[in-house]
Amino acid sequence: MTTDTPTRETTDGFQLVIDALKLNGIDTIFALPGIPITDFLRLAQAGGMKVISFRHEQHAGNAAAAAGYLTGKPGICFTVSAPGFLNGLTALANATTNCFPMILVSGSSEREIVDLQQGDYEEMDQLAIAKPLAKAAFRVLHAEDIGIGIARAIRAAVSGRPGGVYLDLPAKLFAQSMDKEAGERSLVQVVDPAPRQIPAPDAVQRAVDLLKGAKKPLVILGKGAAYARSDAAIREFIEKTGIPYLPMSMAKGLLPDNHAQSASAARSYVLAEANVVMLVGARLNWLLSHGKGKTWGAASAKEPTKAQFIQVDISPTEADSNVAVAAPVVGDIGSCIAALNAAIGSGWAKPPAEWTGAIAERKDKNLSKMAETLAKDPSPMSFQSALNVIRNKVAERPDAIVVNEGANTLDFARSIVDMYEPRKRLDVGTWGIMGIGMGFAVAAAVTQGKPVIAVCGDSAFGFSGMEVETICRYDLPVCVVVFNNNGIYKGTDVNPRGTEVAPTVFVKDAKYELLMQAFGGVGVRAATPRELAAALDEAVASGRPTLINAIIDESAGTESGRITSLNPAAAKKKV
Ligand code: ADP
Ligand code: MG
Repeated sequence: MTTDTPTRETTDGFQLVIDALKLNGIDTIFALPGIPITDFLRLAQAGGMKVISFRHEQHAGNAAAAAGYLTGKPGICFTVSAPGFLNGLTALANATTNCFPMILVSGSSEREIVDLQQGDYEEMDQLAIAKPLAKAAFRVLHAEDIGIGIARAIRAAVSGRPGGVYLDLPAKLFAQSMDKEAGERSLVQVVDPAPRQIPAPDAVQRAVDLLKGAKKPLVILGKGAAYARSDAAIREFIEKTGIPYLPMSMAKGLLPDNHAQSASAARSYVLAEANVVMLVGARLNWLLSHGKGKTWGAASAKEPTKAQFIQVDISPTEADSNVAVAAPVVGDIGSCIAALNAAIGSGWAKPPAEWTGAIAERKDKNLSKMAETLAKDPSPMSFQSALNVIRNKVAERPDAIVVNEGANTLDFARSIVDMYEPRKRLDVGTWGIMGIGMGFAVAAAVTQGKPVIAVCGDSAFGFSGMEVETICRYDLPVCVVVFNNNGIYKGTDVNPRGTEVAPTVFVKDAKYELLMQAFGGVGVRAATPRELAAALDEAVASGRPTLINAIIDESAGTESGRITSLNPAAAKKKV
């Protein structure tokens, strides 16, 4: 490795990885120790990095992904080889799908043995397996390449459309030594890792021309818009143009949900009626019915909407992914919106009053209907009466971060719990994945230093529930509210054969609060909105790890929440 005389100072793979990360402003690692990364994590901690250690790699990976989204720097997750790597892989794939920047770093076994399939300890060709699930995947074999390897991983994670990157570090690499000075020189401080991408002026003009004549314009803000951290420019654009907007779930709070131009409460109306739709960091995927069918006012399921689209996105291949896009604007959202703001100038005519008036009318009607529902106090609690408590708390503490997963718990929370600040809502994202709860909550608490309220269905919570120990161990200001309705969707399913319980049903009256108590946190059972509010107040004020077991009517949920139509049985009925 080195031709230097033994009297010179040396460094090694462990140290070079730590130095390379620190040189690039990365100060936190989410991980689960084991061979071959245990010593690495010890040394990283001793070297001044924050190392947050989990009970399962999937949650460490989810934490890294959420940290990436919340900070704009790649979130880092370290795992052991084969099984640990595979456990982290779901989080990596989810990060890539969500466009969250993260780097999954896994230790791996001896290349020589793995490639000959000679049966090494935790043998697996990890790089090959990670490749299709990651935005990019790299392996470093020599200590002198660590600097370049980490630089490539960082650039791949945050430049252009962000995503998950896999970095394979074989066990042998950590122990390689090299001359200290040469090692320092080999490190790379990445310059401008997420460079601005300025949109073409003619593309901007095309978009403005299309918006200008629109009778029923609509802006849809996605989590890409929230990620872009161009909050002021986006708000300026919305307010200057007067165009109604819809936030996708993680874009809630980019503008406060009580903004006069928010069309959330008239969602079905605006989607079906809009004639020019500008997507900003949002994809026309299943969450937007692919731009087709009745949702979009088309006559049948496969027929595309008649609306014309403008799509502002950093990825040039996103346009036309589902339906034709008349005016793609390719660039980073900050630069695109700034260019649009400049191009619309001052004499902009706001959208016709018939359009904004019709939206306002529907909004008022739907909001008063919702207020009626929220005012009800049924016993046991409904999803709505319990979520009303969360809604009030977030209004009072808009700086708190809400993590949200489940089926009904997710659907209802999305519409009931208003958000007031950008990047305060983390949820199941593009896949609708369960199990992000505790990982996301830990990342939010660690990177933002704000109270976290994790609103989880009882089923969703189960996927990451053991991480309450992690929350207690690091004494994080996380309040988990488990919406306990005794099962998946609901707790009332019956096995017609009368043998074991139905597959969607859990143990009745489970005492989830004891889980948090087991590790020294606070656990409370709440059967009424009053009890829930008291426990939540106390949790947020004290910042102590808390789990509230919120007892919800076990017959209240709907199958698959609002995506019942995706169940094959329901789809069959429709035919
Ligand atoms: P949502 O689910 O909220 O609709 P998506 O995750 O589907 O949002 O879409 C996010 C979009 O934002 C992706 O197409 C991605 O390419 C884009 N994006 C992410 N970051 C930026 C950025 N800084 N500038 C422009 N587009 C971005
Ligand atoms: Mg449930």
